[in-house]
Amino acid sequence: MTSKKVNLYIKRLDLIHPTAGGNKYFKLLYNLKEAEIRSHKTILTFGGAYSNHIYSTAAACQALGLRSIGIIRGEAGKQLSPTLEYAKECGMSLHYMDRETYRNKQQAEVVENLRRQFGSFYLIPEGGTNKLAIKGCMEILREEDHRMDYIGAAIGTGGTLTGLIASARASQTVLGISSLKGEFIHKEIACLLESHAIEPKAKYELFTDYHFGGYAKYKQELIEFMREFTDQNGIPLDPIYTGKLFYGIYDLIKKDYFHEHASILLIHSGGLQGIEGFNMRHQENLRSS
Ligand SMILES: *Cc1c(COP(=O)(O)O)cnc(C)c1O
Repeated sequence: MTSKKVNLYIKRLDLIHPTAGGNKYFKLLYNLKEAEIRSHKTILTFGGAYSNHIYSTAAACQALGLRSIGIIRGEAGKQLSPTLEYAKECGMSLHYMDRETYRNKQQAEVVENLRRQFGSFYLIPEGGTNKLAIKGCMEILREEDHRMDYIGAAIGTGGTLTGLIASARASQTVLGISSLKGEFIHKEIACLLESHAIEPKAKYELFTDYHFGGYAKYKQELIEFMREFTDQNGIPLDPIYTGKLFYGIYDLIKKDYFHEHASILLIHSGGLQGIEGFNMRHQENLRSS
C-alpha cells in the first residue's frame, strides 16, 4: 500500500468505563437520569443474546442500584451467551420473547402486557435510541475535537451518528459507516434528524458498502484487516461495528476520498464485550483486549 498523508485520531470510548463504556454510556446517561427523576426503580429494555446494549444496561443499572429487566429476542439457548451470563451476574432479570412478538414490541398492546407482567418500569428501546440517547451522544465530541475535518462512526440504529451530526461544527463532515445491509439508513438518519428537530451545521455522508453481508455478518477479509490493525496498533476492534468502521475508513483513505493532511477522528464505540461470544460462535480468535 502506498502511504497517504492524512492524520488519523481515535476517540477511545471503549476505555471510559470497564463495563459500561462505549457509545452506550452516552446513550444511557440521560435515560437513567430521567428514570431517576421520575422515581423509577426498574429499567426494562430489549436486545439479542449478544447485545452490547443489554450488557451495558445491566452493568449501569447494577452500578446505580436499579432493577433491570432484559427482554431477549427468540428462545433460550442450551447455554447462556457470555453477554447474557454477565447481564445475569449484574442482576438483570432475563425473559425471552418469541420473534413474532418481538417484532411488534413497540406496539402499545405488547408494552401493556409487559407492564401487567412486571409492574411499572422505565422503558428503553432496543439499541437504546431515543431523544435522550441522542442528547447524550451530543456530548461525545469535546471542544478539542472540533479541530478535526472528519468524524467517522459506525451506525446501528443511527442514534449515535445523529448525536454526532447534531453537535459537529459547520467546518466538519461526519461519516457514517453502516453495519447493516441496505439503503434504508439514509431515510432513517434523515428521519431521526427531522423528528428531533435537528438542523445540522455539519455535512454528513453515509456509506453502505462496508456491511460484509449484513448485521453481524462478516468475511475473512474483515477479520484479517482487524487482526492486522490490532497487531499494529494494539487497539482491539469488534467485528459488528468498529471493525467495519475502521475497514471502511481505511478503504476510503486508499481511494483518496480525503484531501491531503485531512484530520480524521474515528469514534471507537466499544462493543468489545461481544468478541468472546463471536469467537465461540464462529471458532475465531479475535483479541478483545
Ligand atoms: C450500539 C453500537 C453501535 C451503534 O450505535 P447506534 O446508536 O445504534 O447507531 C456502534 N458501535 C458499537 C460498539 C455499539 O455497541
